[in-house]
Amino acid sequence: MTLLNKNTESEFAAERAFVKSYLDKVPGKCAVSDDKTDELKKKISMLLHERNAVLVAHYYTDALLQSLAEETGGFVADSLEMARFGNQSEAQTIVVAGVKFMGETAKILNPEKTILMPTLEATCSLDIGCPADTFASFCDAHPDHEVVVYANTSAEVKARADWVVTSAIALDVVEHLIAEGKSVIWAPDKHLGNYIQKKTGAENMLIWDGACIVHEEFKTRALDTMRHLYPDAAILAHPESPMAILEQADVVGSTTQIIKAACERPEKTFIVATDAGIFYKMQQLAPDKEFILAPTAGEGATCRSCAQCPWMGMNTLESLYDSLLNGSNEIHVDPSLCEKAMVPLQRMLDFRQSQQDA
Ligand code: SF4
Repeated sequence: MTLLNKNTESEFAAERAFVKSYLDKVPGKCAVSDDKTDELKKKISMLLHERNAVLVAHYYTDALLQSLAEETGGFVADSLEMARFGNQSEAQTIVVAGVKFMGETAKILNPEKTILMPTLEATCSLDIGCPADTFASFCDAHPDHEVVVYANTSAEVKARADWVVTSAIALDVVEHLIAEGKSVIWAPDKHLGNYIQKKTGAENMLIWDGACIVHEEFKTRALDTMRHLYPDAAILAHPESPMAILEQADVVGSTTQIIKAACERPEKTFIVATDAGIFYKMQQLAPDKEFILAPTAGEGATCRSCAQCPWMGMNTLESLYDSLLNGSNEIHVDPSLCEKAMVPLQRMLDFRQSQQDA
């Protein structure tokens, strides 16, 4: 872990006060449902049943959507596990509460099924920041590099890649490629790319300049101060966070990996550097522990996200209900594009299977 320098004790005290005031404003607990919400949830449950549909929700969506997914036989997970669940489910329609690339991934893995989303407006700064044509030109300019892209990309970008990976497996895949003597293009998250490069010591790794607007907001100095306020807490960080945050973390991992760490580690308090939506699952699986958001306020703060993805937040009970009622917001991916994008996705799935078999 890296400790930042402090100038004077008084400066330190002022920072502690600042972080404390920030903490007072952060909603630490999930929303509680009221009567109106319950009525909407009942209507959605009936529609899911009538339409032979299943709801899968990402960890970053509203707690109400996550609980509804679980109550109706659906699933709450990271993007890949959401798509895999849809593949194994007998339901003909999969309703994806998340952002657009997640709906597209579900379609690529389940081309014969209907994929609906509460909104098609919900996107991701990583996806937006990696346009398919520019990225293809970049890859074409470096034909000797293996192209590894993160799941947070469009179907077109996936189709151009040799590998599609999630944060849970990215490090292992790049390690494997480096061991084979290959050079790597990594896209689009620069922070995750820098983390992988540091961990693997990979030379000749070309890293695309994209970032997640949520994770990029975490503030190093304020986090350091928070650690002094909670000396017994462990810091859990998603690798989309800047390197200076990751260097302070006790655990760096995907959403699934940091949830697991929260359950298994002995600490009772955790400072969490990822989207606040993850608290629903953490509190459910470790109700005796305390979870605190890592600070997004402080010097240089823009508070564009405040640890809550604005696009994930576009998934509401109302928009979910409308989508199911009208069959609206269906995801379409050209079948030939699905086939091409399936190749690097399948490569990752096979790689993971071979790890589990070993
Ligand atoms: S939290 Fe970040 S990576 Fe996830 S969907 Fe939002 S912008 Fe994209």
